[in-house]
Amino acid sequence: DTGLEKTKENFFSKITKAVAGKTTVDDDVLDELEEILVTSDVGVTTTLKIIDRIQARVARDKYLGTSELNNLLRDEIQQLLAENNSNDFQNFEYGQHKPYVIMVVGVNGVGKTTTIGKLAHKLKQAGNQVVLGAADTFRAAAVDQIKLWGERVGVRVVAQPMGSDPASVAFDTLKSAVANNDDVVIIDTAGRLHNKVNLMNELTKIKNVMLKVIPDAPHEILLVLDASTGQNAIEQCKQFTQATDVNALALTKLDGTAKGGVVIGISDQFKIPVKYIGVGEAMNDLQLFDRKGFVDSLFK
Ligand code: GDP
Repeated sequence: DTGLEKTKENFFSKITKAVAGKTTVDDDVLDELEEILVTSDVGVTTTLKIIDRIQARVARDKYLGTSELNNLLRDEIQQLLAENNSNDFQNFEYGQHKPYVIMVVGVNGVGKTTTIGKLAHKLKQAGNQVVLGAADTFRAAAVDQIKLWGERVGVRVVAQPMGSDPASVAFDTLKSAVANNDDVVIIDTAGRLHNKVNLMNELTKIKNVMLKVIPDAPHEILLVLDASTGQNAIEQCKQFTQATDVNALALTKLDGTAKGGVVIGISDQFKIPVKYIGVGEAMNDLQLFDRKGFVDSLFK
């Protein structure tokens, strides 16, 4: 069980249908393939790129049969992901900075808090001492939820009352992490996207206050996106990358959606590595993104 069954089912059964009764990859097959990729939320630009590459292969290899189409498609998608994921993420060991500071951004409801909880759990399991900062102070529930996750996975949480200055919470958390010799700090932020300038100002303020404690923090600005929202996730990615220096992505709720193709589109469009994927609500349902495993699971 990879958590990607729905995407796979959607993808695979449609491809099988598209090539039924055909012996070669002709224009009709390519048209159908194009539609399958677009409806799997790969996105138009990325789909056309993939189709172009397959067309080039078909032109080169005149007798390309439909049975080879799956392999070809798998290779091209892997290649595309390889070009856009600068490095592969092998483990939850972030030894290069101490503490390693992760600032988590994203719209409410995408699974930000859950991802923070799951990530804290994985990091702790990998031997890290973790502290969470509840800097989403605009919603009472956000602070409570982070505290709950802290208790559940057994990590410390730094919080202030609702309505406090988020930058002040971030400052306190980093100070506390340094004093406590923690390995990883994860800071939650408010997911308000009502106004791009406000969002930018808020995130910049939090970042600037971090710099006062740790000169190169945050090391990771992690944008959490809900994969089940397909093209909305791409739109949110656009907004957040304009507001701050996002350098890692987490795509959640891949277990409940057939729109997993969005992983391919987002990776291609933004050139930001997909680092984590969420495949369920429980604390173990977070995986480091493994592009080979991901692509293979779509075609198996
Ligand atoms: P936030 O508002 O962004 O902090 O979102 P939450 O973390 O509260 O998550 C919103 C809902 O999505 C909750 O019911 C979570 O349990 C659920 N959720 C989060 N991640 C996943 C995931 O990977 N898979 C599934 N199925 N549900 C998820």
